Amino acid sequence: MNKQIVLLPGDGIGTEVIKSAQEVLIAVAEEFGHQFSFETHDIGGSAVDKHGTPLPEATVEACKQADAVLLGAVGGPKWDELPSHLRPERGLLGIRKALNLFANLRPVKGFPKLLHASPLKEEVVKGSDLLIVRELIGGLYFGQPSERRDNGETVVDTLSYTKKEIEQVVDKAFQSAQLRRKQLTSVDKANVLESSKLWREVVEEKKTAYPDVSVEHLLVDAAAMKLITNPGQFDVIVTENMFGDILSDEASVLTGSLGMLPSASLREDGVGLYEPVHGSAPDIAGKGVANPLAMILSSALMLRHSFHLENEAELIESAVQSILNEGYYTADLQVKDGQQVGTKEMTRLIVELIKSQNTTKSIQNCYA
Ligand code: NAD
Repeated sequence: MNKQIVLLPGDGIGTEVIKSAQEVLIAVAEEFGHQFSFETHDIGGSAVDKHGTPLPEATVEACKQADAVLLGAVGGPKWDELPSHLRPERGLLGIRKALNLFANLRPVKGFPKLLHASPLKEEVVKGSDLLIVRELIGGLYFGQPSERRDNGETVVDTLSYTKKEIEQVVDKAFQSAQLRRKQLTSVDKANVLESSKLWREVVEEKKTAYPDVSVEHLLVDAAAMKLITNPGQFDVIVTENMFGDILSDEASVLTGSLGMLPSASLREDGVGLYEPVHGSAPDIAGKGVANPLAMILSSALMLRHSFHLENEAELIESAVQSILNEGYYTADLQVKDGQQVGTKEMTRLIVELIKSQNTTKSIQNCYA
């Protein structure tokens, strides 16, 4: 398979962890006989420094031509005082919009070796493995311009969705559930909001097209509670933009580290932007200690969702789990026993496992 991948390292540890993902993808391509070509472009604060804008036109054009985009992270104190149109995160919002990325997927998995680092009890997080599908470019964050009235004493924000906007993200969630344990939980506030009533109607209409997927509806307040009392009950959760924003951050504590969380933002035709959930971590940038696993797991999501290379994606995910099971960890993970390694060493271990003749054996072991 020939694929063109645009790399957007961005700022801080973004530039370090994106190299790790590239090395892992090169190893996967060699093992499976694929051709991945890479083109690097600027975004965020480094793009402001070089081009005077956080999102140069050349970056947008390259991403539009690409089969998929990998992004490190943007931002840092150096650019905090800039006017809002020059802020690094403008680059991120701009590229999501330019590519029309309507669905954001965030898998959250409790890795056995890391369960102790979660603020929740180990027995609660054990076995949790869920995917949140969040609508990304509609709803409250993209309503009519917010307004202040009555000398600032009254405010108005609007929450609007078209049926088509709901349908496309609900379809993506059903398709994602088909690739997993085939359970979909649709989260809304249908006892209060008209937009949620339409959301629920769409899910009910769509479910006949996916008879192998079981569906339940949950109000967002109950979902927030169940996510931390019994996360193991969930497979795929689909919800609108703001509920998804809040629930996916809540779910992120299950794994115990920001450095382990990948994400995917997708368009209808499968083109996607893949990035770790964490930011540019200016406090550790340049020290060689960043955890590259969220970025590496994001590249696995790219293989699965944009290129439909399920075996290749699983190989990366299993290699990550194996390396953790073998006791290797980066500084952020607070593993009690084992060997602490830096970004480059962690990447080398994953690459070697992928290339190793013993990969299949190691992977089987990790599920034993
Ligand atoms: P952050 O995620 O960058 O860091 C929070 C803490 O987690 C820090 O202590 C950091 O060292 C640690 N951390 C994060 N990722 C890590 C990794 N892979 N390995 C080891 N440790 C890791 O969040 P922040 O400090 O709030 O923000 C820093 C900058 O990043 C800000 O400019 C912010 O705007 C930006 N940011 C960007 C994105 C993005 O690009 N998607 C997301 C969040 C924050």
